[in-house]
Amino acid sequence: MKTALRARLNPQNYATWIAPLRATSEQGDSLTLATNSVFQLDWINDHYRDVVEEELVKISSETRLELIVAEGEIEEQITSELPAPAPRVVPAAPKEPETGGTMNRRYTFSTFVTGPSNQLASAAALQVSDKPGSAYNPLFIFGRVGLGKTHLLQAIGHSILKKNAAARVQYLTTEQFINDVIQGIRFDRMDEIRKMYRACDVLLIDDIQFIAGKETCQVEFFHTFNALYDARKQVVVTSDKLPHEIKDLEERVKTRFQWGLIVDLQPPELETRVAIVKKKAETDSIPISDDVAMFIAQSVRSNVRELEGSLIRISAYASLQNQEISVALAKAILKDVMAGKGQALTCEAIVKAVSNHFDVKIGDLKSTKRGRAIALPRQIAMYLCRRHTGASYPEIGQALGGKDHTTALNAFNRIKERLDTPDVRRHVDEIERLLLD
Ligand code: ADP
Ligand code: MG
Repeated sequence: MKTALRARLNPQNYATWIAPLRATSEQGDSLTLATNSVFQLDWINDHYRDVVEEELVKISSETRLELIVAEGEIEEQITSELPAPAPRVVPAAPKEPETGGTMNRRYTFSTFVTGPSNQLASAAALQVSDKPGSAYNPLFIFGRVGLGKTHLLQAIGHSILKKNAAARVQYLTTEQFINDVIQGIRFDRMDEIRKMYRACDVLLIDDIQFIAGKETCQVEFFHTFNALYDARKQVVVTSDKLPHEIKDLEERVKTRFQWGLIVDLQPPELETRVAIVKKKAETDSIPISDDVAMFIAQSVRSNVRELEGSLIRISAYASLQNQEISVALAKAILKDVMAGKGQALTCEAIVKAVSNHFDVKIGDLKSTKRGRAIALPRQIAMYLCRRHTGASYPEIGQALGGKDHTTALNAFNRIKERLDTPDVRRHVDEIERLLLD
């Protein structure tokens, strides 16, 4: 398997992450690979788990992959044993979706529908992409989940690159920024990472609210921001909270955000929603009538991601059933949404259902209390959030009282791996029934 993986990964990544893995047991239906540290385990889960699983399936489709931290390993060891990973390089051109600091090709200004709810934000974004570094710096795009922050942020990136292909545009999530800083410190490469960021012409950072409480990262961000600002380079950040609402955000970082312009995205009004549905249908070549577009727009109100999701569901259903997309069909499929159930599942609703099912307090689920009585329900809640909402790991961590994204990721994997043990299965099934009926 390692040979196959070596062929698929670049040598540096292979040497850093895959080569040190050791198979500790291979019994019947599971293969256990030992990593050297929690950090390595998380990194592999985040970046290479899919590849490893794909290769594993080729050998045996029955075998499950388990990653563990080798017993008795101490974190310091990896610093000396492993070569340091190369910092990510500024991508020359946008590539396929979202991970690894790359941008989604479809998130451009031409696919962004404007209306009163987002006029100001999109006008500001356009200006910034016309005159990076001099219109509004920094630009702070604020709005609730699913209202187009990431789309608008990447639209700025695409537009700048279109005008000037040589522009060094770096898009990244705050999670990636945090990872870079952690790695930089751990592998003593902070200078290199600083240099990499400071070489940007345009720095686009998504979901900056996740920097809350991460002191070292805030300090790095502050210095990076100042360096770019002084060199008249553009910085744009998005957040689902206003600067003063971000917990533990350093005063001087808040002040920097307030130097520029803060714009917000509101939930779109009906006409804008209709236009968004039509645009999406057009881009994806889904044939829908005005009536259907209107019906969907009336049914799903608060969140553009759900609006798009509804259209996709209807279209998938219609094509599976070989039916035309009609209002009647849309009604049948969206009846859950209209009854306020089903698709409208949120992390909040899941946390509540888990709290009811196990008879534990929501406050306890969100606390840092340990012990199986609370840890298992908490992990199941995180698992279900991942399964049934569009929430990312950092968002799930937030919903469970501000846990780290790795906590959410590990909880998801733990429950997934234990789904065929009877008691975990039973709990998950019962809660799903509660939620989805
Ligand atoms: P956020 O980052 O605020 O959570 P996203 O940018 O990921 O939201 O948007 C969610 C989805 O909705 C994306 O697929 C995006 O393309 C789409 N979307 C949001 N707003 C608009 C809009 N005004 N016009 C077209 N598509 C939109
Ligand atoms: Mg986003």
